[in-house]
Amino acid sequence: MSKGSDAPRKPASAPTLATEVKYLKGAGPAVAQRLRALGIEQVRELLFHLPLRYEDRRRITPVTKLRDGEEAQVWARVLHAEVRYAGRRSLRVLVDDGEASLLLRFFHFNEAQRQAFQPDRWIQAYGPVRHGAQGWEMVHPEYRLADRPEDLRTEDRLTPIYPLTTGITQARLRALAQQALKIAEGDGGLATPLPELGEPGTLAALRTLHQPPGDADTDALLACAHPAQRRLVREELLAHQLSMRLLRNRVKAGAAPKIGGLAAARKELQAGLPFSLTGAQQRVIGEIARDLDSARPMLRLVQGDVGSGKTLVAAAAMLTAVRAGWQAALMAPTELLAEQHARNFRQWLEPLGVEVQLLASKLKKSAKDAVLARIAGGGAGIVIGTHAVFQSAVSFHRLGLVVVDEQHRFGVQQRLALRDKGRGRLSPHQLIMSATPIPRTLAQTVYADLDVSIIDELPPGRSPVVTGAMSNEKRGEVLARIGEVCAQGRQAYWVCTLVEESEQVEAQAAEDTALQLRAELPGLRVGLVHGRLKPEEKDLQMRAFKEGLTQLLVATTVIEVGVDVPNASIMIIENAERLGLSQLHQLRGRVGRGAVESQCLLLYKPPLSEMARQRLAVMRETNDGFRVAQKDLELRGPGELFGRRQTGVIGMKLADPLRDADLVAPLQALADRWLQQQPGRAELLIGRWIGDVGKYAQV
Ligand code: ADP
Ligand code: MG
Repeated sequence: MSKGSDAPRKPASAPTLATEVKYLKGAGPAVAQRLRALGIEQVRELLFHLPLRYEDRRRITPVTKLRDGEEAQVWARVLHAEVRYAGRRSLRVLVDDGEASLLLRFFHFNEAQRQAFQPDRWIQAYGPVRHGAQGWEMVHPEYRLADRPEDLRTEDRLTPIYPLTTGITQARLRALAQQALKIAEGDGGLATPLPELGEPGTLAALRTLHQPPGDADTDALLACAHPAQRRLVREELLAHQLSMRLLRNRVKAGAAPKIGGLAAARKELQAGLPFSLTGAQQRVIGEIARDLDSARPMLRLVQGDVGSGKTLVAAAAMLTAVRAGWQAALMAPTELLAEQHARNFRQWLEPLGVEVQLLASKLKKSAKDAVLARIAGGGAGIVIGTHAVFQSAVSFHRLGLVVVDEQHRFGVQQRLALRDKGRGRLSPHQLIMSATPIPRTLAQTVYADLDVSIIDELPPGRSPVVTGAMSNEKRGEVLARIGEVCAQGRQAYWVCTLVEESEQVEAQAAEDTALQLRAELPGLRVGLVHGRLKPEEKDLQMRAFKEGLTQLLVATTVIEVGVDVPNASIMIIENAERLGLSQLHQLRGRVGRGAVESQCLLLYKPPLSEMARQRLAVMRETNDGFRVAQKDLELRGPGELFGRRQTGVIGMKLADPLRDADLVAPLQALADRWLQQQPGRAELLIGRWIGDVGKYAQV
């Protein structure tokens, strides 16, 4: 490999899609380096770096016809320009198109720019329009100045706008995209007809997107509804399905232990419970039973709202494995949750003679060695730990089932890695419990490699949580409410949240809050739990709260997932305006677990942004996690829910898993057909949209 500082040499042969971008005109090593931030190294990636949207600079809009909030192009004469110092320094340029005037405002400008705005010169400005206090205005338009109106020019096609990175301009990307298109003309792969996906062909569609012809249906392009866009959306969704199905097939091609007897294990478990399993739990357990009783590894996701009882479903499956002579492992996302699971499993399963081991990360070496020995020797039927713990070397005697709890970032690669934890040629079965319910239509895209079961019923006797939002200026009322609740023998959570990622800062804030609350509510026993406590201390605090020894638990978001204290009936969440909907819903799920009506108070610091106002409104409106998830997606886009651009999980260039959900079902069938009958094509498409087929082929 050549170093970035090497002067680029022209490759001997004509450039292809695999040529590095640094060999293109206008893309020296420095530009190439920056393009890397956009995931662009080869011409192929440039070709598939598609415009986010288009601007219409073909039309000139008279100032009198401008519309608030829309982008427009205006041609006008400069009246005068001045620099103002009120508040922020700004350059204000008043222009007039003969019928009305328009104010252009700039906050970043230099002296030369200012000088150029001479009265009577002509300007062509493009930007978002607002109706402000002084009439129409544009902030930071793109513009061109000329001495005579004849020297201004409109575009004859839509202007593509690309996702950018620092140091790369739209103009540069447009020029590079042109070159990529030229090179693509000579590429045989791109010319492969794919009639199942409809017209136009891939290359023609790419050309339309990068360089919309003058007569293209612009409304459609702007709405991402143009046939060329729809065609590429289908192709991308198909590529995505193909890669996920391919990975699924690789796992499924392995052999797994055939584990029967789930019905008996379920009865055994049920006998020790003070309640009966819900219909939904029983149905999902039935779906798992069929998977376990097959000689192929199970790949199943269980989706269910917070509190729907996913843990018992997992316990039934794990007990089944143990009864059939296999070991089962449970991976939790946090230490706190692993500890809680261990407590529950011991309570449920030890009376049945099953050994449960917790592989805590902070065990002393000798204790840890002892646990590892129990696992390796097969004495431990059930092993619980965090994901991190399982990534280190743990060897099992006979691992038959792995359950992954509360994880939505558990990628395909990690799922594949689990295969190696099995015994001999046998891979363990895999059961994944979702952290965040997502709409079914989205699940078929995101979890295309998994079978999905849904627990769509909460255990009986729960009353819904009443959610309210309150300014933090009303702290006094909130404290009074906590006092009332605790006087009735109930308990309360106070959740401290910070945007800073540092566990230490967050822990400090929680400690301060606990001190303050102890002073403000002298009659209450206040507990405290955060991520910096020693495991024993954390355990002690959780246990004290669970047993009612403390009444108010101050906590950081470490309690977000899974913590279960049914007597807690009120939760206060500080800085709620800064949290995402899914996180708020997860937190709120800690209350409303008993029969008493529960309350969740979202404290915010005014003034609220429009987005925050909408999020809090959603929380007040609904308790349904699937609806919250849907709203969450609508408000912030799927990328953020799953982490940005995770290849193989969701990183899509053009398709929008929410908008395009209805296209997916027919493509699933097509993907399966191709994988069987035309694996070459499948690899072609994966390579084109997702890249690096080799990565998938090796594992
Ligand atoms: P989650 O799906 O959020 O992981 P949990 O498995 O933690 O939910 O269950 C939440 C609570 O509901 C626990 O206290 C659990 O014991 C209880 N639970 C589970 N199933 C039932 C049921 N069928 N009837 C009553 N309570 C149940
Ligand atoms: Mg759970």
